[in-house]
Amino acid sequence: MPAAPTDRLTQTLARHGLRTTPVRRAVLQTVAGRGYALTGAEIEQEIGVGTDRITLYRTLKSFEQSGLIHRVIDDSDVLRYAACSIECTATAHFDNHVHFKCGKCAHTYCLNQVAIPTVTLPGGFQAERKDYLLSGTCQFCQS
Ligand SMILES: [Zn+2]
Ligand SMILES: [Zn+2]
Repeated sequence: MPAAPTDRLTQTLARHGLRTTPVRRAVLQTVAGRGYALTGAEIEQEIGVGTDRITLYRTLKSFEQSGLIHRVIDDSDVLRYAACSIECTATAHFDNHVHFKCGKCAHTYCLNQVAIPTVTLPGGFQAERKDYLLSGTCQFCQS
């Protein structure tokens, strides 16, 4: 059954200036409401075979530029992506939150409610990105 033209995924894409395509829908559905970040390979695996990798990575890039997802840097050298908070737009990314890497389940979570502390930089230094990573054991892995 074809999806209704004004469902939530379509609305979210439209709000970020993106037309709906099957790949965009699948990627958005995969990353949204997840709570932790996924690698490109994990997203590729979840949306299934038959998706051209170039299209997938182009989609991730356009999502990033449109304020739908943000990059999550952790200590694994693998780039991960997570859904942005609903306030994010192409011109204003509000990804001022801490990330938490769990050593047990190996998930890297967005702690949206925990803001990155303000740091004072020495003169002449200008930060362009803020990556703040804590590691330990997440609430799901506490015994
Ligand atoms: Zn865990
Ligand atoms: Zn995040």
